[in-house]
Amino acid sequence: MTTASQSHSDVLIVGGGPAGAAAAILLAQQGHAVQIIEKTPAAHHKVCGEFLSHEALSYLERLGVDLPALGAASIQRLRLAAGRLITECDLPFPAMSLSRRTLDEALLQCALNAGATVLRGCRVESLARAGSNWTARLSNGDLRSASNAFLATGKHDLGGHPRPPGRQNDLISFKMYYRLAPTQQAALKHHVELIVFPGGYAGLQLVEDGTANLCLLVSRKQLHACGGTWNGLIAHILRSSQFLCERLHQATPQLEKPLALSSIPYGLLQQHASDGLFRLGDQAAVIPSFSGDGMSIALHSAHVAARIFLTGGNADSYQHRLARELSYSVSVATAVSRSVIASPGLVHLARLCPPVLRQIARGTRVPTYAMLESAHPVTGVTN
Ligand SMILES: Cc1cc2nc3c(=O)[nH]c(=O)nc-3n(C[C@H](O)[C@H](O)[C@H](O)COP(=O)(O)OP(=O)(O)OC[C@H]3O[C@@H](n4cnc5c(N)ncnc54)[C@H](O)[C@@H]3O)c2cc1C
Repeated sequence: MTTASQSHSDVLIVGGGPAGAAAAILLAQQGHAVQIIEKTPAAHHKVCGEFLSHEALSYLERLGVDLPALGAASIQRLRLAAGRLITECDLPFPAMSLSRRTLDEALLQCALNAGATVLRGCRVESLARAGSNWTARLSNGDLRSASNAFLATGKHDLGGHPRPPGRQNDLISFKMYYRLAPTQQAALKHHVELIVFPGGYAGLQLVEDGTANLCLLVSRKQLHACGGTWNGLIAHILRSSQFLCERLHQATPQLEKPLALSSIPYGLLQQHASDGLFRLGDQAAVIPSFSGDGMSIALHSAHVAARIFLTGGNADSYQHRLARELSYSVSVATAVSRSVIASPGLVHLARLCPPVLRQIARGTRVPTYAMLESAHPVTGVTN
């Protein structure tokens, strides 16, 4: 990855996850001088279920990411396991899965190909506006400035730009890769599995090399009751889920220890940007993870922000519009997530009424009308 040498640009993007990289691609393609600053020096794992819903597939294709060439696995069915309940249905849309280690690098490569400058291995310590100029101070002491700034630091808040709390803030997430026994791997193929257990839920699916990603959320209280350790938590989940016990029988963990993340503001929707900063992805909206739509939202936010920026609009109008578009799906997903954590027995309704599952899957996505609006190309407008 190249190192930026210029210190001033039209656009400075802090954070090179899906949201930041997508915005960099779209703006660089329209002739803007874009600098993107990503704190990690190289490809790395991230806490994520790695489920790519159909909106993400469509945005990624538009951005030039060739998912089949990267080996993305196809996902066609949803299987729900809660205690003794096991039910499944076709997904109402096409989906895939790909490790974030592969996907995020592919997106940053597309940003480079589009002409953006990508600076790796440097953390932005602060970002401040003086008049019409934004200045970022980097961990190596350098300063970078730009006329416009986009904040895409995802799960991590940048000093001076905290996010308001979400509506479900007490969950902790873990992710572990496993190599499953061959029969279990075959049973999981083409499925995303959602396993509900007392105090949380987990997602399980295969990624590109046939490894299974177990990504879960647990309430702080439940984790404490399990002794506050990964081993205690896994033992609790396996006691309550014969289904997961079978899946993980003779499985080999692929990471030395699980990745973990806390203080996730689920349900957050930024409504304003009176400071002129375009907030993208998880900095703009955080949908509960069971929906598997966080990356779609990140990519959608980049498209909406780029479109509004390229047509002369400001950050405040972008933030209002995004919040309006996502309000329903984020609210539905947050209500479902809270209910399932509080009363895991509720998922048994899915057996009585399987279409409920598909309804929830449909109702917790970026709305189609919003995707269609953001799809029209903007051409020939540069600053
Ligand atoms: C448990 C869990 C499971 C999930 N499962 C799914 C799923 O299956 N499907 C799905 O679509 N979504 C899922 N999500 C949501 C998804 O991971 C996020 O919505 C998505 O990653 C948001 O993209 P982003 O670009 O906004 O942020 P991120 O992907 O977090 O990227 C932000 C980038 O900014 C960089 N950065 C941070 N701070 C700085 C700084 N100061 N200076 C420079 N760089 C910085 C980081 O290194 C990172 O690369 C899940 C989330 C969780 C927590």
